[in-house]
Amino acid sequence: MRIDTIEIYRVAMPLIYPFRTAYGSDDCIESILVRMTSGSYYGWGESSPLRAPTYSSEWAQGVFIAMRDWLAPLLVGQDITSGEQLQRALASIKGNYFAKGGLDLTWWDLYARFEGRPLWKLIGGKGPDVEVGADFGVMESLDDLLVEIGKAREAGFKRTKLKFRPGWDLNMVAAVRERYPDMVIHIDCNSAYRLSDLALFQELDRYHLAMIEQPLAHDDLVDHAKLQANIRTPICLDESIVSVDKARKAIELRACRWINIKPARVGGLTQALAIHDLCQEAGIPCWIGGMLESAIGQSFNMALATLPNIRYPSDIFPSERFYREDLGEPPITLSGPSRVTASMEPGIGCEPHPERLKRLTVERVVVRA
Ligand code: MG
Repeated sequence: MRIDTIEIYRVAMPLIYPFRTAYGSDDCIESILVRMTSGSYYGWGESSPLRAPTYSSEWAQGVFIAMRDWLAPLLVGQDITSGEQLQRALASIKGNYFAKGGLDLTWWDLYARFEGRPLWKLIGGKGPDVEVGADFGVMESLDDLLVEIGKAREAGFKRTKLKFRPGWDLNMVAAVRERYPDMVIHIDCNSAYRLSDLALFQELDRYHLAMIEQPLAHDDLVDHAKLQANIRTPICLDESIVSVDKARKAIELRACRWINIKPARVGGLTQALAIHDLCQEAGIPCWIGGMLESAIGQSFNMALATLPNIRYPSDIFPSERFYREDLGEPPITLSGPSRVTASMEPGIGCEPHPERLKRLTVERVVVRA
C-alpha cells in the first residue's frame, strides 16, 4: 500500500470532570488524530500522550510536530506492506514512541480496511468480547470513593483500580478493603514513589491487592526488580515499558509479574503485538491500559484486548464516563456487565464525527508525498 497522504489533527476534548492522578489535574484531553490514505482507502488512528509531558516525556503538541516534521515525511510515498516495515522506516528517529505509535496504529486501520476485515480478527483475537474494569481517581473524600465503588460493584464490574498517591494511600486502601473484603483491587501509583518507600509497599502486602501498577520512576526497571524481590504483591509495569526491548529487559530482571500494554505508549500496534507475544512466551500475563483517548484510540485498545494473553480486565471505558460526546463514532458503550465488544466492521470500525472533529481541532496539517 503506497501511502499518499497523512493528515494530522491536534484536538482538545473537554472532559465532564477533571481527571486527577499523581501527575495533577486535567480538564481537557489533548489528543492527536491521524488519517492516512492509500488510493481510495483510508485509515484513522490516535495518539494521546496528554497535554503536558507528565505521564511520559511526550506531549500532544510535541507529538504533532514530531509527526509533521520528522515521521510522516518518512512514510508518504512509500509502499508499506507490514507493521514491521513501517517501524523500520521510522527507526532512524530515536524515542518518540507516542508519535510513532499514532502513525503505526493508523496504518493498521488502513490495512485492515483494505483487507476488509475487523482489526481484532486480523491480529488473531479470540473473540470480540473484552472484559473491562472500573477505575477511580483521587476523590474529595473516602466516603465518596466508597459510594462510587459500591455503584461499580452493583453494575457488575469485576475489578477495581484505585489511583494511589501520597495523601491518598494506605488509609484509602485500608478503608476500601474493609468495606469490600473480597473485591479484586489493584492500585496505580503512576510512578509517584521511590525504592526508599519499600516499607509502605511491604505494608500493602496485607491487603492482597491483585497488583501494584508502576510504583517507581517512569523509566526505571532495576529498582522495580529490587522492590519486587522484597514484596509479595505482583508489580505491573506501565510507564516503564515503552518498547519491546524494555519489556524483554523487565522480564529478564524480574522487575514485574504483569505488563500493562498501551499501544500508543509502546510505539504502535506492531510493538504491542510483539510485547504481547514476548510476555506470553515468558509466562507474564498482560492487560490493556488507556490514556483517555476518544473512541478511536480505545477501539485499538479493544482489538488488542481480544488477544489470548490478556488475562485481567482492561482499562477501556464507556465514552460517557469521561466525555459528554465522544469525538469518535460510534462511542464506546458497555455491551454487558464489565464488558465491551469489538466492532465487526472492517478496521477498527470507528472514525471521527466530522462536525465534532472540526469544532475540537486546534491545529491540522496534511503531509503529502
Ligand atoms: Mg497506569
